[in-house]
Amino acid sequence: MTPPVFRFAPSPNGYLHLGHALSALFNADLAAEAGGRLLLRIEDIDRTRCRPEYEQGITDDLAWLGIGWEQPVRRQSEHFDAYRDALAQLQAQGLVYASFESRGDIAALVTARGDGWPRDPDGAPLYPGSRDAMSEAERTARMRSGEPHALRLDMTAALARAGPLRWREQGTGPGGESGIVDSRPHVWGDVILARKEMPTSYHLSVVVDDALQGVTHVVRGQDLFWSTSVHRLLQNLLGLPQPVYRHHRLIRDSAGRKLSKSTQATALRSLRAGGATPADIRRIVDVPEP
Ligand code: GLU
Repeated sequence: MTPPVFRFAPSPNGYLHLGHALSALFNADLAAEAGGRLLLRIEDIDRTRCRPEYEQGITDDLAWLGIGWEQPVRRQSEHFDAYRDALAQLQAQGLVYASFESRGDIAALVTARGDGWPRDPDGAPLYPGSRDAMSEAERTARMRSGEPHALRLDMTAALARAGPLRWREQGTGPGGESGIVDSRPHVWGDVILARKEMPTSYHLSVVVDDALQGVTHVVRGQDLFWSTSVHRLLQNLLGLPQPVYRHHRLIRDSAGRKLSKSTQATALRSLRAGGATPADIRRIVDVPEP
């Protein structure tokens, strides 16, 4: 039997905090328990926010925690071609369209729709436009003229093609979901697959990489639980295998908020500098020594 493949996939846009420690330790312990492999993937598609010193910080913190990972490390910014190929496959299926609104235009459209306008699971308003709002000819002409645009998934068409989907959840969702979970990608609306300044998106690159790297077990925070709906849809449309998912509890601050990379107090490097040991970190995040 081939060994299971786990991955820890941080974005180098800040230093790791206790929430990352929990995720990385879970991945490492589950991989060790299952006789599996642990990969490290650096999710650095957003070149404006990612910095080499943060990537160095990630590897320093993980090594300090006693976590080992396989080489080579996959850096997403080195694989834009793979994401372009996947996007081209979705375009060939007629499931992608260009949208030209700026952030400000979108905010104004959302305001005009009133308070009842739906929001996605992260709390952001759904894209208020639609593929039907512009003729194909105008869209093509504006793209050809070099106008900045985003490429979006036509969710209605994508759902019609894929039909109902499910995933196997070994952890729990924010509402206690577990076992076989019904995918709900429509709650995200016409998600962005690529932007002018970034030829891919989180959703697209994560799905492509998990497949290319042969990841069998995705273990990550509950904040990404409903994103899995979009990932299942993209996997289906691109003919990619589906991993098993395990979404874990989040570490929260004393006010109950999700931890942020900008808070010094919960950054692993600050705790380390203050004299904490890796065993202390395991105790704080409640992940016992295996
Ligand atoms: N890069 C994402 C983050 O740092 C995690 C992606 C994932 O695990 O799917 O939140």
